[in-house]
Amino acid sequence: MRQIDHFIVGGAGSAPKRFGDVFNPNEGGVQAQVVLGDAAVLERAVQAALAAQPAWAATNPQRRARVMFDFKRLIEDNMDDLAHMLSAEHGKVIADSKGDIQRGLEVIEFACGLPHLLKGEYTQGAGPGIDVYSVRQPLGLGAGITPFNFPAMIPMWMFGPAIAVGNAFIVKPSERDPSVPVRLAELMLEAGAPEGILQVVHGDKEMVDAILDHPAIAAVSFVGSSDIAHYVYQRGVAAGKRVQAMGGAKNHGIVMPDADLDQVVNDLAGAAFGSAGERCMALPVVVPVGHETAERLKEKLIPAIHALKVGISTDAEAHYGPVVTQAHKEKVEGWIQKGVDEGAELVIDGRGFTLQGHEKGFFVGPTLFDHVTTDMSSYKEEIFGPVLQIVRAQSFEEALTLPSAHQYGNGVAIFTRNGHAAREFAARVNVGMVGINVPIPVPVAYHSFGGWKRSGFGDQDQYGMEGIRFWTKVKKITSRWPDGAVDGGNAFIIPTMG
Ligand code: NAD
Repeated sequence: MRQIDHFIVGGAGSAPKRFGDVFNPNEGGVQAQVVLGDAAVLERAVQAALAAQPAWAATNPQRRARVMFDFKRLIEDNMDDLAHMLSAEHGKVIADSKGDIQRGLEVIEFACGLPHLLKGEYTQGAGPGIDVYSVRQPLGLGAGITPFNFPAMIPMWMFGPAIAVGNAFIVKPSERDPSVPVRLAELMLEAGAPEGILQVVHGDKEMVDAILDHPAIAAVSFVGSSDIAHYVYQRGVAAGKRVQAMGGAKNHGIVMPDADLDQVVNDLAGAAFGSAGERCMALPVVVPVGHETAERLKEKLIPAIHALKVGISTDAEAHYGPVVTQAHKEKVEGWIQKGVDEGAELVIDGRGFTLQGHEKGFFVGPTLFDHVTTDMSSYKEEIFGPVLQIVRAQSFEEALTLPSAHQYGNGVAIFTRNGHAAREFAARVNVGMVGINVPIPVPVAYHSFGGWKRSGFGDQDQYGMEGIRFWTKVKKITSRWPDGAVDGGNAFIIPTMG
């Protein structure tokens, strides 16, 4: 059986002792085994990174940018192969797999501008003969721990800015779909990054803990579920690291009575069911405002959901493919049962869905619930599957309160033609990323990405200027070039510029 190995300078060192299964979501069964590393494997990667990083940091920014430009071109040249590799392990359709790669690539494009982004600040004549300037320097070695649902985009969110500014980087991808991050590291080497600048170690909790405890790793970026994000944040910070840890989500779409419902239904079909709902910026909760809006929306949603085509991930006609594993399929179906038990109205039931010719694949049919209420655990928790829940609100204020009071605060959207309502909503909602008639408001690469509450721990977001800040530290230099006269007598008081 195919074995997926670490990507470490000089190899892993000794024969692997533990393996994880990489499943075939389209057909069921296991397609490969990924080696699961430990602290000894990490140590080899860390030593290689530390050996390579100083020269990389000393390479002038324009030359580092050229490597990023070449990396971008190589990804574009390899787009089809990467998309198929991604789709085969994750199960998302090819168009969506390309979107996953493309959104990561946009962060690489942003990182190509690093000579400009890294420019510091300078004050001439802050005092007599005194100049002050600040420069951003790399942290040294950073690490990224990534989830299964965006195996190309999320590693690139992290290592793009981190490497561009002069760090070495170690990725620990999800053990569910580990092949694409390894291929990206190969391409980074081909693009001209020195050996050791981007390495990949595989593993589970054992490897994550080794990363969090390693004294040479200065910063850790994590994306995954909230309990683990919180754990990673606490353990990493306790070890003295800089940590950003993005967690789960339960994004709401508010539908005002004046919204264009045909557009809303079209947007919801993609945002709730695309990628089988396995997106942290999916829209699994829709909140129509007023009874009439709810009834009209439901009437339009039902045929639109029945029209969705579920297929294998290489089917160009399919709207979405299988979920990532059999265990995840069972979890999603368990949540559907829970919703029924809690008293929500199951309008469309996606359980027990099988695809002819692919009966063992991990498919879940599109599911719609109505009359979901805030006391239900199936509302409070993330389902992460193709399940859309209608939560009815009687007023704008009630609709505003729902996402604001929810434990997660990743994304939210409002659909309306009323500029005042949209503006009021965007200003007051207690959520990190807001869409106005935009169902999946993932900010573009030159802004930054990050949720609030249990969707994000730490104080700096992913990519954009926040990413540059996260992966650098600021050095402040105050310099004096005296003209020769000694200003004796003032040496014992705190310096002022007066
Ligand atoms: P996950 O939390 O199971 O895994 C994420 C990473 O943590 C993986 O690399 C995994 O190996 C590691 N891990 C798993 N168990 C661990 C443990 N006990 N201790 C330490 N590390 C452990 O998440 P997932 O299922 O791969 O991804 C889906 C989740 O990620 C969803 O909750 C989704 O909302 C979230 N997500 C969030 C964002 C965001 O930006 N907020 C983006 C994408 C996905």
